Amino acid sequence: MAAVNKVLVVGGGFSGMAAAIRMSQAGMAVELVELDPAWCPLGAGITINGPTLRALDSLGVYEGFLQRGCVTSGVDICAPHGAVLAELPTPSPVGSRVGGGGGILRPALAELLAEATRAAGVAVRLGCTWTELEQDASGVTLRFTDGSSGRYDLVVGADGVHSPLRGLLMPEIGPLQYIGQGVWRAVLPRPAAIQRPRMWLGPHIKVGVNPVSATQMYMFITEDRPTKEHIDPATWPQVFTGLMQPFVDPLVQALIPQALKPEAAIDYRPLANLLVPAPWNRGRVVMIGDTVAATTPHLASGAGIGIESGIVLAEELARHDDLQPALDAFHTRRFPRCELVIRNSERLCRIEIEGGDKAEHARIMRESMAALAQPI
Ligand SMILES: Cc1cc2nc3c(=O)[nH]c(=O)nc-3n(C[C@H](O)[C@H](O)[C@H](O)COP(=O)(O)OP(=O)(O)OC[C@H]3O[C@@H](n4cnc5c(N)ncnc54)[C@H](O)[C@@H]3O)c2cc1C
Repeated sequence: MAAVNKVLVVGGGFSGMAAAIRMSQAGMAVELVELDPAWCPLGAGITINGPTLRALDSLGVYEGFLQRGCVTSGVDICAPHGAVLAELPTPSPVGSRVGGGGGILRPALAELLAEATRAAGVAVRLGCTWTELEQDASGVTLRFTDGSSGRYDLVVGADGVHSPLRGLLMPEIGPLQYIGQGVWRAVLPRPAAIQRPRMWLGPHIKVGVNPVSATQMYMFITEDRPTKEHIDPATWPQVFTGLMQPFVDPLVQALIPQALKPEAAIDYRPLANLLVPAPWNRGRVVMIGDTVAATTPHLASGAGIGIESGIVLAEELARHDDLQPALDAFHTRRFPRCELVIRNSERLCRIEIEGGDKAEHARIMRESMAALAQPI
């Protein structure tokens, strides 16, 4: 018998969907409420590394990923004028059949996981959230914006970095910490020369591209900015293409007119992180994903650790008869891995901002990816 029978997942992002799919597959009655009536994230691309592909495979969406996204092998590291400085291998993770890396548009991945969520039998309510929450020793009672109410053995909070659930149950947790870098992203047509991820390293700016489909790639530019100032979105195309200018590789320069088109959908995000100390539950409400462990994208692993947490939570709930041992086992498996990603990403960011030791940067990348390739 599982530790719980009836579960509510709050938030239908990648982490919440992963948990919902696996808990439903394990025989629990799972409901999911998602605030966004369209259930669709922003249209930017996302890098999916090998360990995350392995997690997606275990959720049954790898075939869909192969059709809708792009699986690649290796990364080219270049100088601003285009010379290839290094080729980083991205081997397949331990014990899996998946490729070593990939990319996809966020709405495409969200759609794949949403289809899998419904197919697993999860009862999904969109444009809906909770308004009141009360818990006692045997369950959690919630009221919802659609006027209904329900009682659950467990609530899984996966409502993201600005989580209202965390605000209610963990008021002691402060706001996210800005880390001195911002990231720009755009969706561009993919030239034939780009068959796998490529990065151009400038002194303080890094430009990268990653294929996300047969015809598209996304470009990201990481920029140091000491303060988290507001940048008027009307100026984003000019700022973005201005940052591309010093990268004189003809491949980058040829993309500037494409980046000025509205369909490039340029987006800017100041980078911040958050690591809530374990335990991640308050009674019968447990939190996963960005809600408690949000990383900067230096290891391209934020979505991955959230999806893995959803899978591991479901595994431990199914494996134990009682809730507390299941949650203890969940924390033991998840906290160190999430901490590794967040702290190492933070260190990579500091090295980039301070123009620090490139050998240390390479070592942290290598060691982190080797650790993440191990079974979860
Ligand atoms: C600039 C940037 C680049 C990144 N690049 C990468 C990358 O290349 N690779 C990678 O692996 N990761 C990357 N990440 C990290 C990744 O995007 C996140 O870790 C991941 O999306 C977190 O998923 P989540 O489901 O935990 O949270 P979210 O994606 O935030 O999902 C939360 C969901 O909850 C819903 N919600 C919110 N409030 C409520 C409520 N009250 N009730 C009900 N529902 C609610 C929201 O609508 C949303 O659907 C990047 C992050 C950033 C900021």
